[in-house]
Amino acid sequence: MSYVDDLIACSAFDHGPQTHTLFLQALQETVQHHDALCPAYHNFLLYQHFQPQIQSLEDVIALPPMHVNIFKEYDLVTVPQDKIVLSLTSSGTSGKKSKNFLDQISLDRVKKIAWNVHLALGMVAPESLVNYCCFTYDPHVAKDLGTAFTDQLLTGFTQRNQVYYTFQYNQSTQKFEFNLPQIAEVFESFEQQGLPVRLLGFPAFIFEALDYYQKTHQRNLKFHPDSFVMTGGGWKKQENKKVTRQEFVQFIEEATSIPGSHVRDMFGMVEHGVPYVECRLGNMHVPIYAKILIRSPQDLSVLPYGEMGLPNFITPYLHSYPSISILASDFAVLEPGCSCGLAGEVLRIKGRAGTTKHAGCAIHAEETIQKR
Ligand SMILES: [Zn+2]
Repeated sequence: MSYVDDLIACSAFDHGPQTHTLFLQALQETVQHHDALCPAYHNFLLYQHFQPQIQSLEDVIALPPMHVNIFKEYDLVTVPQDKIVLSLTSSGTSGKKSKNFLDQISLDRVKKIAWNVHLALGMVAPESLVNYCCFTYDPHVAKDLGTAFTDQLLTGFTQRNQVYYTFQYNQSTQKFEFNLPQIAEVFESFEQQGLPVRLLGFPAFIFEALDYYQKTHQRNLKFHPDSFVMTGGGWKKQENKKVTRQEFVQFIEEATSIPGSHVRDMFGMVEHGVPYVECRLGNMHVPIYAKILIRSPQDLSVLPYGEMGLPNFITPYLHSYPSISILASDFAVLEPGCSCGLAGEVLRIKGRAGTTKHAGCAIHAEETIQKR
């Protein structure tokens, strides 16, 4: 019996005394697991004078966070290497890649967490047949485990009709190409089929493709009202040129008829794995599987709601490597809640750096920008 699995069996935003207690039990279970089986983590806790006991929020606050860069420098693994079934990397500004190491237990859990979060946000429709346009490489050609994993995950909340990848491999040039006329044809075909559509990926590419369609066809698309735009990586139209979230949402509504409440950005980190996905009002709620503390960059003390600091992401689900309390280098603010009806604190990421560690399609899209 595992408290972690009990926690993950609960609905994503079912915040209350019971799930809070379960979170503490699950975190204690995980901290003790890594303390016992990962010598580097054991030494880290020893050095920080932390007893691996988590019985209250104060203990969660006292659990020393590891800076996210640790996972760029060191391969920390708690289980035998042959138990690792998937290792995903993210790009970093310094060129160093951050890795995660997932065993089957952690992989099953991260999939379940993603499912539960999207389910609670109204984005899971197991009966619905959907056409997908992923603004990523075709993972079958790229043999990219990370993209393949992300796309499998994010296209797996519905039945898949067609999955089109916008970065197609051209045999003659031996390069991946972003073929705008071909994407425009795919858009028209999806419109004619009349099934719900999901556009996945980096907002800049989605913008570019729809803008191209508008300009070359002198009309807007009319996709099924159950369609979604699922983005990751912020609202940059082109490099150095930002559009606001509101501008992006308005553009999507105009260009595709997809309701603004169906445009959902996601923030995630490869080292953390819990997805923070926008609700219908555009706010990223913290699910019960994680706790976020905003810490002062000066002394790491916990800051109150509304004050900007470094986010400390804490989650108990990772069994194979000790990335359970990490300090990120983006600035963020936490707010007590949102008026959409879902519980959970709201995370606002401030000052995203251009090519950092965002999960999902964005990582690969950003790598693509550098390669184009
Ligand atoms: Zn909300």
